[in-house]
Amino acid sequence: LVSRKWKVNPSVVDLGDSVEIKQGNFTLMAGPCSIETEEQVEKTIAHLVANNVRVMRGGVFKPRSSPYSFRGLGIDGLQMFYAKCQEHGIKIVTEVMQVSQIAPMYDYTDIYQVGARNTQNFNLLDELGKVDKPVMIKRGISGTIDELLYSAEYVFSGGNEKLMLCERGIRTYETASRNTLDLNAVPILKDKTHLPVIVDPSHGIGIRDYIEPMALAAVMAGADGIIYETHEKPEEAASDGAQTLNFTESARLVKKLRATYELR
Ligand code: PEP
Ligand code: MN
Repeated sequence: LVSRKWKVNPSVVDLGDSVEIKQGNFTLMAGPCSIETEEQVEKTIAHLVANNVRVMRGGVFKPRSSPYSFRGLGIDGLQMFYAKCQEHGIKIVTEVMQVSQIAPMYDYTDIYQVGARNTQNFNLLDELGKVDKPVMIKRGISGTIDELLYSAEYVFSGGNEKLMLCERGIRTYETASRNTLDLNAVPILKDKTHLPVIVDPSHGIGIRDYIEPMALAAVMAGADGIIYETHEKPEEAASDGAQTLNFTESARLVKKLRATYELR
């Protein structure tokens, strides 16, 4: 069902208030790795509004390699995050880690993010297939392109067609970067599926100085949108500071991304 053989026309994910994620409509999503404080959310919103970015990212349920790392503010943090964004017409994308979180999150999210560690959590995908709310599925840490498409098939075949895919880098033998951003996946996915394809250069390479070139390359590869991490003070971020842009870098990236998209 997610194949172009089934449906030729590109899918449109409508978030309301004229925010539509689709081919031909370049979407930017930005924000911190983790939601930390009300002040952080307010400052990020002001930055996004100033740069006409309509979707804010931020996790409240964080999948951390170590159980001792910051694991997120949970549902209370999500309610604060969502309320602040609604005041400013900003949509949110935030990670859902397990089935039991779907219902409590429902009223406080615009896009459920399925993280790379949950791409093949088939129970979670089945349940998201029954929900009337957009879903973004990230590629698995060691997942193939076809496995990502089959994960999408779970949600789509369950009845939820408000779906987009995200290339976020895969684990390879390379150690010079956090992950290997697989830009090959972009034209291949665009050819194979009618779903919007988003690229996450932050997790894809994991090194702040290299986010910009990889994001721009992703645009030229055909991405329908870019999601990246930004924070007022990346060095103080609760998670993923090393791959997080400050607001000056973020504003410059937004300008370059839009200019690059115009060249396509
Ligand atoms: C994130 O978006 O902060 C995140 C944990 O992403 P991923 O699942 O791609 O690692
Ligand atoms: Mn992160």
